[in-house]
Amino acid sequence: MIRSIDDLQLAGKRVFIRVDFNVPLEGKRITDDTRIREALPTIRKALKEGAKVILASHLGRPKGADPKLSLEPVAEHLSKLLGAEHEVLQADDCIGDGVAKMAKELKPGQVLMLENLRFHAEEEKNDEGFAKALAALCDVYVNDAFGTAHRAHASTAGMVPFVKEKACGLLIHKELEQLGKLVKGAEKPFVAVLGGAKVSDKIKVIENLLPKVDALLVGGAMAYTFLKAQGVEVGKSRVEIDKIDLAGRLLDSAKRLGVQLVLPMDHIAGESPDEKAKPVEVHERTIPPALMGLDIGIKTRDNFRQHIRGARTVLWNGPMGLFEVPAFSEGTRQVAQAMAANREAQTVVGGGDSAAAVNEFGLASKMTHVSTGGGASLEFLEGRELPGIKALEV
Ligand code: ADP
Ligand code: MG
Repeated sequence: MIRSIDDLQLAGKRVFIRVDFNVPLEGKRITDDTRIREALPTIRKALKEGAKVILASHLGRPKGADPKLSLEPVAEHLSKLLGAEHEVLQADDCIGDGVAKMAKELKPGQVLMLENLRFHAEEEKNDEGFAKALAALCDVYVNDAFGTAHRAHASTAGMVPFVKEKACGLLIHKELEQLGKLVKGAEKPFVAVLGGAKVSDKIKVIENLLPKVDALLVGGAMAYTFLKAQGVEVGKSRVEIDKIDLAGRLLDSAKRLGVQLVLPMDHIAGESPDEKAKPVEVHERTIPPALMGLDIGIKTRDNFRQHIRGARTVLWNGPMGLFEVPAFSEGTRQVAQAMAANREAQTVVGGGDSAAAVNEFGLASKMTHVSTGGGASLEFLEGRELPGIKALEV
């Protein structure tokens, strides 16, 4: 069983919250504060209960202490978001005597933002001494960083056994509830829409989901490897040659399981995978030799929309085409719109690029859930146990 922060008594306790404040920076300016705002409900909850809050995160990929990747601008921004009521103190490290003293002297309602965990190589090495030093700062451990839950690092896994009480935060709670429903007990019809760059990234997800779904709609570059496996010529489209056999086997197992594996029947193609490419409508499965498929075609979109409309559960992972280029983004947009329009269904978006697409289309709030973890959500959907989640089991 995993407790949530709602199940614990926090008053007067030092509560260590592992958050994901890995935000994009331009110099000291935060260009997108979504991750900070998403962590607010958990932080506010702890503060409201009278906890002394200690926040820890990584930022970027520093090699040793690097002032450019300091969490200082994040702490300042957080302080603005929380308002004058709560003081946000900044530590110049995440372990050591100075930090330990600050943590000890923290008062209820105050926040202590630790410095970037990855300034210490021991974080990613999951070093026991480092993990114990982090654990010594607090009475309660809360993990709300789903994006790193698939990593066994000191702050996500190693420190947890050394803390008395542990729980997930509100963000992870929602992830487990929503993604958990998909792998166990999804309402039917269950339609999965998969796309993106590579079949190889998603093989295990497909294998794990095939026995659970009623239909699997495949778009994006990975569709061409499947078409190739059916003997369809796909021109210059991205194909993973070494995965064609595997795609063939997945098509066979879908048939055996009675699952519809639906591939594009038409395409929007171009000469190159960039904004210079002029979009060409290809009205059949076969793509001419000089062209590559860069989006699903018009009949395919209609078909995918119809499947999504009739579903009670829709999982979508991976764009339907080169959505970063407007001329090839329409298939991706229409999948997102069809999901947003189905108010009867549990609609879940996983994957970093898919989440970015949904945000860009302004449709995120219309989904039941947009996962905050790219790699972590994929590993969860593969049926794997995530170290950061397993560590929370009581
Ligand atoms: P996610 O992050 O949602 O899991 P992926 O990382 O698997 O998605 O794939 C996203 C990338 O795949 C995007 O950069 C997109 O442009 C690219 N992509 C999708 N379809 C095609 C295509 N037909 N040709 C080239 N690139 C594509
Ligand atoms: Mg991606």
